[in-house]
Amino acid sequence: MEVKLIAHTPNPDLVCAAAARTSRSSLSPAELLEKANSPDGKEKALKLLKEIIKSGHASVTEHVSFTFSVSGVSRALTHELVRHRLASFTQQSQRYVKVSGEDSFVIPHTVKGNEKSLKLFKTALADIQKSYNELISLGIPVEDARYILPNATKATITITMNGRELLHFFSLRCCDRAQWEIRELAELMAKECKRVAPVIFEKAGPSCVQAGVCPEGEFSCGKMKEMKEKYTKL
Ligand SMILES: Cc1cc2nc3c(=O)[nH]c(=O)nc-3n(C[C@H](O)[C@H](O)[C@H](O)COP(=O)(O)OP(=O)(O)OC[C@H]3O[C@@H](n4cnc5c(N)ncnc54)[C@H](O)[C@@H]3O)c2cc1C
Repeated sequence: MEVKLIAHTPNPDLVCAAAARTSRSSLSPAELLEKANSPDGKEKALKLLKEIIKSGHASVTEHVSFTFSVSGVSRALTHELVRHRLASFTQQSQRYVKVSGEDSFVIPHTVKGNEKSLKLFKTALADIQKSYNELISLGIPVEDARYILPNATKATITITMNGRELLHFFSLRCCDRAQWEIRELAELMAKECKRVAPVIFEKAGPSCVQAGVCPEGEFSCGKMKEMKEKYTKL
């Protein structure tokens, strides 16, 4: 899969810091941002933002937005992804873009790891591709031929989320209990976010990293320490 952060609010940490100061300052948000951006204001602004986030006032992180280009993921993944209702999505349409070639499908690592299962999987994909092509050549519209395509079919998708929704998304999808492909996506997105907004996303990762508790009960992976180390280094 390929994940690229293609756009984001400039200076996301400082924008949220300025927003956080709005509530207790006579200055305008624009003046506060200018102050936060000054050499002697930066450290103070970022310290305040850290405290605000730590105290649970996550709404200030809603002022910044992040847009990702994602390709080479399966429809199985995008179906899970679009359940996140506070995000915005635009996905490649199977009504207009024809599926063609072996590289049009995601093959899970478990399937790849076994010669027999890989052969089985590839044979099924080849059969589907053949029937799909034949349906189209019989005059069946692409939008109807696509009904036989599998969950493995690759998709491209543009995702936009604000800082708060991203943190929520990471809490669920970076978790060891999340499905492997969406977990891989969430991890790559978290890495990008940490690069451009290290304060907002300081604790980006599964719930156990963000909140210090695991909500999974008896299904907990029991790897809180390893998860903390992993996401601190991300
Ligand atoms: C490990 C895992 C397994 C899953 N298994 C299944 C499954 O078997 N079947 C299945 O159907 N789904 C499953 N899901 C999907 C899950 O139920 C959620 O739909 C998905 O994770 C989106 O979460 P969300 O609603 O919190 O997020 P978002 O839609 O991004 O919403 C963010 C937050 O905004 C608030 N919010 C959003 N919309 C509303 C609203 N209409 N009313 C009130 N508050 C709102 C909520 O606080 C919500 O947590 C699974 C998810 C995970 C992580």
